[in-house]
Amino acid sequence: MLDPPLPAPGDRWALFLDIDGTLLAIAPRPHDVHIDPALPLLLGRLGSACGGALALVSGRRLADIDVLFSPLRLPAAGVHGWQRRRADGALVVAGEPIEGLRRLRRGLAAWASTHPGLLFEDKGGSFALHYRLAPEHGPGLRRLARRLVAHQTQLRMIDGRKVIEVLPLGIDKGAAIAAFLAEPPFAGRLPVYAGDDATDEDGFRVVNRLGGITIRVADPELGDAASAARYAVPSVAALRRWLASVAERLRPADLENAAPAERQRSLPR
Ligand SMILES: [Mg+2]
Repeated sequence: MLDPPLPAPGDRWALFLDIDGTLLAIAPRPHDVHIDPALPLLLGRLGSACGGALALVSGRRLADIDVLFSPLRLPAAGVHGWQRRRADGALVVAGEPIEGLRRLRRGLAAWASTHPGLLFEDKGGSFALHYRLAPEHGPGLRRLARRLVAHQTQLRMIDGRKVIEVLPLGIDKGAAIAAFLAEPPFAGRLPVYAGDDATDEDGFRVVNRLGGITIRVADPELGDAASAARYAVPSVAALRRWLASVAERLRPADLENAAPAERQRSLPR
């Protein structure tokens, strides 16, 4: 049984899914996450049920995403959209890291190295400081990052779930989703986005504006937080149950509504 009422699957959906805290429970360190083999299978089924219109939208790098879900290689936005692999496999990168980001990265990495338990993650187009293992450093880190970013007109800071992330303005999950929706096979479909964190709010706003469906997975430590998402689920497990039901129910609908030629291609020979 699903906890809150989520919408019934529609046959022309484009699915966009955040990874950490949405498809996977958050781990103490990003590389500690556990993927059960059922998840890549579920994503593969969902992708086919949506005619290939399923993309992962994450703060992780594409290379990390591919290791996590191997052998599956889905369309994906990495580093909040700084990198994007389109459905045709082409890679789009938003450009070289800007100078302001390089300077801040040096400063904050040096600060982090003197504070045990902080984990500095360089992602090329952005960087992140994780304080899940040393929550006592969270407030100091937040103050410092906020002060440094205030002097930069081209950067912004995102205050996430036990992580502070700094990235260029204009790179966000909403822009990444909009870019996918301008391309096949996403174009013309209703966007559905599930996420859990501050960086997902950009995605929720874009998808809401397009009349799509937005779902926030609650943070078990904080419970419900203010969010632009129109639906909420209490846990990663609840979202996975709903996605499994979507995969079950979308498949026949998509085939029934497909054009005759497409239907023929979709049927086993
Ligand atoms: Mg997340």
